[in-house]
Amino acid sequence: MFNKVLIANRGEIALRVLRACKELGIATVAVHSTADESAMHVKLADESVCIGPPPSRDSYLNIHQIVAACEITGADAVHPGYGFLSENAKFAEILEAHNITFIGPTAEHIHTMGDKIEAKRTAARLGIPVVPGSEGGVSDEREAKRIAADIGYPVIIKATAGGGGRGMKVARSEADLVVALQTARSEAGAAFGNDEVYIEKFLGKPRHIEVQVVGDGKGAGIHLGERDCSLQRRHQKVWEEANSPALNARQRNEIGEICANAIAEMGYRGAGTIEFLYENGEFYFIEMNTRLQVEHPVTEAITGIDLVHEQLRVAAQAGLSVRQSDITFEGHAIECRINAEDPRTFMPSPGTITHYHTPGGLGVRVDSGVYAGYKIPPYYDSLIGKLIVHGRNRVECMMRLRRCLDEFVVDGIKSTLPLFQDLVQNHDIANGDYDIHWLEKYLAATDAH
Ligand code: ADP
Repeated sequence: MFNKVLIANRGEIALRVLRACKELGIATVAVHSTADESAMHVKLADESVCIGPPPSRDSYLNIHQIVAACEITGADAVHPGYGFLSENAKFAEILEAHNITFIGPTAEHIHTMGDKIEAKRTAARLGIPVVPGSEGGVSDEREAKRIAADIGYPVIIKATAGGGGRGMKVARSEADLVVALQTARSEAGAAFGNDEVYIEKFLGKPRHIEVQVVGDGKGAGIHLGERDCSLQRRHQKVWEEANSPALNARQRNEIGEICANAIAEMGYRGAGTIEFLYENGEFYFIEMNTRLQVEHPVTEAITGIDLVHEQLRVAAQAGLSVRQSDITFEGHAIECRINAEDPRTFMPSPGTITHYHTPGGLGVRVDSGVYAGYKIPPYYDSLIGKLIVHGRNRVECMMRLRRCLDEFVVDGIKSTLPLFQDLVQNHDIANGDYDIHWLEKYLAATDAH
């Protein structure tokens, strides 16, 4: 196992990783920008290094500073958390060249999955169901028309280099297609410096369902069931649950097994998430994230498995601690992402938290890096914390969640707590009856009143 891990991140995820390291007896190094001097992850780490000024590109994304911090402190591995450098193949490569272990997949796997067409090709080759569409990039109008006619309208045009939902356009007919192709191209070119696009069948009312996997890099792979992240605003997940209200045990095991076999065959090392759109009983691969996800705690709640422990183990070549047959899914878990934002307009609300009280009790977990008196800096994401609630079934989980949301106090800044207090009372949510467009429609309808 490692002696000392440097955590190249901030906020709740830096703390999350730090806790796992402490449990395994591994010393920790925090890095921070000048804006984060009084952050929790800095206070709780064994050592800390300031790596630059507030803007992320000068600190949390500054590879040279992070490598230097490893050398100064003698860290033998780096955990990247999520976001920042977690899916940067070059970062993984540079660390390995310095004999520092990147706690994540190989640079090659990060690279393959970071290219959407390559990822889709790889997925299809490994037996993962994909959305029908073009084989690769689409170059001209004639080819686009032929492919769209083959798939059938509506179709969606997506950027090969895409991310964050940008460069996507829907075409409902051949007349739409020409304009959609041009707009998607120019958006992609402007956003990613690469205007290659591809075409897929457009799914009207899908759910977002993703499968958690972990591979040991030596041909063993497991799945830890799925998460339903259909409640989204502008492609940002807001509420996640495990298991999905839409799947039964047979469907769960089937898709889980496909994913576990695929990563085993790839020789994938580390935790990963295979994301699908799910409609009318069919799964359609959209992408694979080669890192830990924000919403991983709902999986931990129903499996009892610490995913960061597993990441550390496989990175240290110590193998997985569990076999597929050891894993069971107990009860139901829901996560709410509580952001420092206006609950209606979602405008960021940085500033000082004057009062802070978190709920507790059986089945309750709060992952957060804030405290009363903490000043949320304006430079980074607006996540205050994640409330994760577990119950023996979905009904119990929802009752517990309602109670926890009443107990949670964040004063001094605006937070999205009131949004969750509304959602937890909603009939469709109570029934698990929602797709990826539900939340936007709900927000538009409640705004109108
Ligand atoms: P990005 O990497 O930009 O986030 P994704 O491929 O993950 O792009 O897609 C983001 C979102 O766009 C999906 O969660 C879904 O809401 C929508 N989307 C993507 N592909 C399709 C499709 N074929 N049909 C319908 N919606 C889609």
